Amino acid sequence: MAHGLVRRESVDTEMHKSGDKRKTFVFTKKRGYDVTRNPHLNKGMAFTLEERLQLGTHGLLPPCFISQDVQVMRVHKNYAMRKDDLDRYVFLMALQDRNEKLFYRVLLSDIERFMPIIYTPTVGLACQQYGLIFSRPRGLFVTIHDRGHIATILQNWPEKDIKAVCVTDGERILGLGDLGCNGMGIPVGKLALYTACGGMPPQQCLPVLLDVGTDNETLLKDPLYIGLRHKRIRGQAYDELLDEFMKAVSDRYGMDCLIQFEDFANVNAFRLLSKYRNKYCTFNDDIQGTAAVAVAGLLASLRITKSKMCDHTIVFQGAGEAAMGIAELITMAMEKEGLPKDECIKKIWMVDSKGLIVKGRDNLTHEKERFAHEHPPMKSLEDVVKELKPTAIIGVAAVAGAFTEQIIRDMASFNERPIIFALSNPTSKAECTAEQCYTLTEGRGIFASGSPFDPVTLPDGRTLYPGQGNNAYIFPGVGLGVIACTVRHIGEDIFLTAAEALAQLVTEKDLDEGRLYPSLCSIGEVSFKLAVQIMEYAYKHNQATLRPEPSDKEAFVRSLTYSTDYDEFVVDSYRWPEDSVTVQSCKL
Ligand code: NAD
Repeated sequence: MAHGLVRRESVDTEMHKSGDKRKTFVFTKKRGYDVTRNPHLNKGMAFTLEERLQLGTHGLLPPCFISQDVQVMRVHKNYAMRKDDLDRYVFLMALQDRNEKLFYRVLLSDIERFMPIIYTPTVGLACQQYGLIFSRPRGLFVTIHDRGHIATILQNWPEKDIKAVCVTDGERILGLGDLGCNGMGIPVGKLALYTACGGMPPQQCLPVLLDVGTDNETLLKDPLYIGLRHKRIRGQAYDELLDEFMKAVSDRYGMDCLIQFEDFANVNAFRLLSKYRNKYCTFNDDIQGTAAVAVAGLLASLRITKSKMCDHTIVFQGAGEAAMGIAELITMAMEKEGLPKDECIKKIWMVDSKGLIVKGRDNLTHEKERFAHEHPPMKSLEDVVKELKPTAIIGVAAVAGAFTEQIIRDMASFNERPIIFALSNPTSKAECTAEQCYTLTEGRGIFASGSPFDPVTLPDGRTLYPGQGNNAYIFPGVGLGVIACTVRHIGEDIFLTAAEALAQLVTEKDLDEGRLYPSLCSIGEVSFKLAVQIMEYAYKHNQATLRPEPSDKEAFVRSLTYSTDYDEFVVDSYRWPEDSVTVQSCKL
């Protein structure tokens, strides 16, 4: 498809420079209900009379013509009548199944409102109820029994030009544990954000659920469960499935097809990342995406504390995927400032369920071993904080209230501006609330959370707006950038570049108000800017393989992005003989 991209670049670059509006035409041989019931083609009552006549849909629609703007208004009104978040999720998914452009247009009309429904936290609830709310399949289901045939299953997927795959095996869905095949809600939601936030065309995105069984007894007994009804198959068979899947995807869609791993259990997440990272174009969002968003928050904090990363001592509460990813990227940021690697690692401490991670402790995994220092064992986080006097504490253990009043007060006593990140999700699992952080530190605490918190007004009248370290700030932009210039392997340096770019997008005014991230409603522009920065970086460091290098990268990235405007239909079966849909941008 490289040829297609180049063609579109030249057209759109020209349009971008001249300020022309891009117009998209669709050529199709489909007729009648095949058009109105196809979510990629359907535009409801916005089809013009000419289109209705030509497409054979005249009479299949009410006679009125309704613009997309009015359709958006109708969706908003219907949405407001839904009684709870799960109902809102079902409503939005039904819209996605019916009219894709309208779905994305609605999301973009108020992304702050809709993101918590199609993504965390509601998507978690949706996965728990997936069997119940299931109406139409979305995404590709590959099971452990499909070994030997994955390439054939990929052939069944109707799109040939896939650029981004998001895959899960459903073993650790958010903080909800093993949801097996019901985990499909996660790749579906993530890829919807690739389009809504990053502008990736939805037809280029493929959600995949690898079903190897589930150890969730409740699901195994549930007559509505949609997955394989046996325990998880592990070991060699599991590894063979993953190996075959990675190869089959790359064979069919190219070595530059991005494969994002999502919500794999700890034990597989690290292992698979190190196994595949130098072989395929892949990353793990729970480890690397989280790392980038947290480090972006830290880099923004440094602009407040007027310090360098290597001036800090950081204690993690938790030593899992999130903690390891963040710690690795902090180390990289410190190294970039000139501190030797060993010294960087010494500035990072971790506390897990058994206490402070120290050298000689039993049963340390390879990942934990890296951050184990010479120190007597300590059990409680309070004691650790008192002893180590960190400048920053980061909570990623999903232990609600772990940042006690004493810890927050101690942090405020050692530091003029203590950095306190309570990143555990959902809100009920946060280590402390924004209000606790701000009030106990007299407004000096620099706070970020995993789940959103309301603004806090202090007794002195100042209102502070807590930063939400949402991974959606990172993965759509990284995906878009990597795909745009066909990076083959995504190193940690790409994530550090994304973190730096994100931190730079925070304004001084944002920082004054306590915000460590740009406003969520600007996420489309944020993703676009991250993508351009990643392209710049990738070309500079010889990681981009797309040739020739686009001279105007902004225009190039824009030319790849999806428009939610309805296309115009051109019926011409001689010029477009295939029975598929071909979309081409044309100058007005
Ligand atoms: P994980 O299961 O990989 O790791 C959890 C870690 O917590 C483990 O190391 C475990 O030993 C440790 N732990 C458990 N109980 C503990 C205790 N009592 N004291 C200290 N440590 C304890 O999970 P993860 O993927 O690392 O996610 C952890 C949390 O971070 C979740 O709540 C998740 O929602 C959140 N998270 C937030 C973001 C974000 O804000 N953008 C991104 C990813 C994860």
